[in-house]
Amino acid sequence: MKIEILGVKIDNITFQDAIEKARALLGDDKQNLMVTCNPEILLHADKDNFFRDILNSASICVADGFGLILASKFLKDSLMERVVGVDFVGDFCKICEKESKSVYLLGGRDGIAQKTADRLKKRFPDLKISGWLDGGINLKDCCKLIKSASPDVLFVALGAPRQEKWIYDNLREIPSVKLAIGVGGAFDFISGNVKRAPKFMRRLGLEWLWRLIIQPWRIRRIFNAVIVFPILFFASIIKK
Ligand code: UDP
Repeated sequence: MKIEILGVKIDNITFQDAIEKARALLGDDKQNLMVTCNPEILLHADKDNFFRDILNSASICVADGFGLILASKFLKDSLMERVVGVDFVGDFCKICEKESKSVYLLGGRDGIAQKTADRLKKRFPDLKISGWLDGGINLKDCCKLIKSASPDVLFVALGAPRQEKWIYDNLREIPSVKLAIGVGGAFDFISGNVKRAPKFMRRLGLEWLWRLIIQPWRIRRIFNAVIVFPILFFASIIKK
């Protein structure tokens, strides 16, 4: 079942369901996009119909942000739980390791992609990492490089909406990829470049406060997620 928030249809599934659904897509004939949605992404989609259509064309669209879980409590059905992108990448790599599927890491600036690959390799020694590419470079010709590595899964960390648009525009050029996932800042955390919020803050949905403390320059984005998103969301409910 899907739950619509600001025009974007989000899968109402558990973390484990998302893993299973993604695993099933690895044997699919067609190529698939997975989106890890948060309030900021929905704000982009609210202003950009093309981006919203891309999100709604995804084979899996999960609720990554705590704000979406809270918002859904004001709807007829509420979202079961968060599917946190960074945790998903870790657990899905375990599946890929078991099933001998290869992964490619695209994105993350300043060597983060390589650092992420090193960390994943330590955690999952048999995982096939077919390559990585820094997101700070010009991505014009990178499809050829990724195509020659022939991965099954492509993690794209370029920030939204760029990463989803990049996948939409380029996936066809890399036919081996069965599942491409926009993972936002996941590489920053997996590489250890950015420290994750302590568990109690995550449980209370206070990751935004943690990020405000350690990355105060993100204040505008946090303001959008914590203040602008609820205002738009309630306005949309009242309109309905
Ligand atoms: N990023 C990138 N190239 C760009 C813009 C962003 O590789 O042109 C990377 C950035 O280094 C980070 C990731 O994309 O690792 C996610 O960026 P952002 O912080 O915007 O996303 P969020 O954490 O909010 O999902």
